[in-house]
Amino acid sequence: MTEAALRGSGMTSLRTRKRMVERLVARGITDERVLALMARMPRHLFVEEALASRAYEDLALPIGHGQTISQPYMVARMTAALVQNGIPERVLEVGTGSGYQTALLASLVPQVYSVERIAPLLAQARRRLGHMRIGNVIFHHSDGHWGWPEHGPYDAILVAAAPNELPESLIDQLKVGGALVIPVGSGLHQRLMRHTRTAHGHAEEILETVHFVPLKDGVG
Ligand code: SAH
Repeated sequence: MTEAALRGSGMTSLRTRKRMVERLVARGITDERVLALMARMPRHLFVEEALASRAYEDLALPIGHGQTISQPYMVARMTAALVQNGIPERVLEVGTGSGYQTALLASLVPQVYSVERIAPLLAQARRRLGHMRIGNVIFHHSDGHWGWPEHGPYDAILVAAAPNELPESLIDQLKVGGALVIPVGSGLHQRLMRHTRTAHGHAEEILETVHFVPLKDGVG
């Protein structure tokens, strides 16, 4: 279906997004800033046209290269966890993927740094955000296990793929009081965690059981 036909059918309309947001509320998302933003953000522009009519279902969808655009509920949950104690100024995102989460973050915080290991996905996300006139994101093609120390320390870090174990280098790139939201573990044993850096180490909190694609080594 073409973009115009989709719009005509109402499948990508504000009303459709509002229904998605109602489902997020029903699943326990309460952060009004995140809900308002997700009601506005055109998720259908972050998937290929053949999948656009499904963009407002609460599903992860394939984006090529064996990767997926994260499920709206998970994006909402992670974003809310990241901004829970105030809007961070500078955020590092690991796993740009489609750029949907990146666009949401960039609409909430002053500066986003986004790292992706698959070059064509990174290029596509950069183009999408360019078309949307979102200019406060700096993209980087790299293995995000190591974060992006050049621009650190960050007020918050969000990781969209699961390492088997917590990469300590990411904690090192947080300011004291800063939060890292990350799925950790393998297979069916992943947990979404929030680690808050303290003066002497970090405090951890388990948010819920999740299922993310693995954080892979090296660039693709
Ligand atoms: N938030 C994105 C999630 C995409 S899936 C979205 O909703 O579109 C996770 C992404 O993490 C994939 O694009 C994958 O290529 C990327 N990724 C996996 N391991 C990585 C690593 N070590 N460094 C950077 N990106 C990585």
